[in-house]
Amino acid sequence: MIIMKFGGTSVENAAAIEQVAEIVRSRQKDSPIVVVSAFAKVTDQLVLMGQQAASGDCESCLQLLQAIRARHLETAEALVETGFSKISKRVESITADLEHFVRGVAAVRELSPRSSDCLLSFGELLSSEIVAAALAVRGLDSVWVDARECIVTDAMHTRARPLFEATKEHLQAKLGPVLVKSRIPVMGGFIAATQEGIPTTLGRGGSDFSAAIVGAALTAERIEIWTDVEGMMTTDPRLCAEARTIRQISFNEAAELAYFGAKVLHPATLLPAIEQNIPVYVLNSRNLKSKGTRITAHAPRSRDIFRAITAKTGVSMVNVVASRGLMVHNFLRSVFEALDRHGCPVDLVAISEVSLSFTMESKRLPENLLAELEEIADVTCEDQHAIVCLVGEDIHGKPGIAANVFTTVAKAGVNVRMISQGASEINISFVIKESDVPQAVRHLHTHFFPNHSAQVGATAAAGEARRSRNATGGRKANGSHSSSEKIRKNGLASASRSETADGGVKEPARAAQVSAAAVLTVKRASGSRG
Ligand code: ADP
Ligand code: ASP
Ligand code: MG
Repeated sequence: MIIMKFGGTSVENAAAIEQVAEIVRSRQKDSPIVVVSAFAKVTDQLVLMGQQAASGDCESCLQLLQAIRARHLETAEALVETGFSKISKRVESITADLEHFVRGVAAVRELSPRSSDCLLSFGELLSSEIVAAALAVRGLDSVWVDARECIVTDAMHTRARPLFEATKEHLQAKLGPVLVKSRIPVMGGFIAATQEGIPTTLGRGGSDFSAAIVGAALTAERIEIWTDVEGMMTTDPRLCAEARTIRQISFNEAAELAYFGAKVLHPATLLPAIEQNIPVYVLNSRNLKSKGTRITAHAPRSRDIFRAITAKTGVSMVNVVASRGLMVHNFLRSVFEALDRHGCPVDLVAISEVSLSFTMESKRLPENLLAELEEIADVTCEDQHAIVCLVGEDIHGKPGIAANVFTTVAKAGVNVRMISQGASEINISFVIKESDVPQAVRHLHTHFFPNHSAQVGATAAAGEARRSRNATGGRKANGSHSSSEKIRKNGLASASRSETADGGVKEPARAAQVSAAAVLTVKRASGSRG
């Protein structure tokens, strides 16, 4: 049995869904379970509808609802001629529920994380019903399955974590009878529910994670992630037209890339696969013969020093300088205790004697953390930064690699704000201004991935086309932390620039979060790396 996950662009219209049907047909003998995302852009539209409804702009919200309804009906009509009345009734019924829901949000003018999860679930509910119907009329014996009855999570709304034992039980009970009859289950990714049946979501981009959860729970032979590029690439092809496909990559390398910004995989996707040692493939749904990328426990060495370069934008860099008279150990303890109290998912940390810098996704930086730190230290916070991360299992113990990286970045005219090397054996990461990302990544890519090792490359045209789409996606500075505004600034700070020497310092903050990289790093630190 295999899991086949199709992302938003792979199901964006009738032609794309027809292609999905052909891809599924080509795997019919492998007993596929199909997991689909919402049609491209629908989740963003639902987010917008939530904002409109909560701000009382019910009219705009209902207009968007009508557009979503019309798009799904048109797509269903183009795909399902005989039997259209059945699927159209389902689309009408789901969109009627959606309308009821947003009217409720508009009435109370409030959208909690819990309501937001319910709202966002409509995208995958609609797409999965339509894909199931489209497969059925093409002679594939598909059956729609409600993902909310299969994947059981905690109640951490907007980024819920699966409860594996309960999920396994539910999946076996729901899918067992379907698979026994050689039918093809089709379910929405991203969405799940708590033990009590309250809808949850697994975080944006979470359909990949759904596929991996289902794959691990049912011990699938492999997990296929079908997307809009040829596989995992040496960098984001939107940033660099020369990016090329990586044929094979290890779980550790791919998890590190996903955690540090390679959007092609949701950061938590590989955890379930690693636990069950299930190979994951990233494939191009626009190319049925796609060889893509194979992700397994071990991958053969490549000629290049690094496997890939990635950049995570929308990062804030917080610099904390101890107030006079505070003992160093007290200072460090106080900072880490504050991070722990707020459950902060810190990415990088650098420490010198009396100062400490750390980075976090700006949107996850708690409002009152900075104010709390200010009581024991001088604090500055700079938004609109990015972490660039170069990943490769071969770099450990090789002299001169860091010098090579930073010389290249300097030649690109980019100023490095913070460095982390050594905390992870397989990556070198550093912080730069978000606006410098394209320049830095292109220079690094040209330097570390010279043409000699060209594999299946993205065409320059494709790269250019993608480059014109929004490449950074970071939020505007000073957008959401008004209470600590006075200690934020957008210019360059006189921050400490010490290299992180001790892998342990990352752990207190990161271990509080269940993220792929966090768990992998904890494992590495305790020497249990596979
Ligand atoms: P889907 O809707 O199929 O889940 P996503 O948009 O979430 O697709 O992810 C695919 C996108 O990830 C690609 O279009 C590409 O721009 C981006 N991406 C970022 N880094 C990488 C990388 N290293 N390799 C491949 N794609 C990447
Ligand atoms: N539709 C969801 C999102 O846009 C999940 C996914 O696409 O994986 O975030
Ligand atoms: Mg995705």
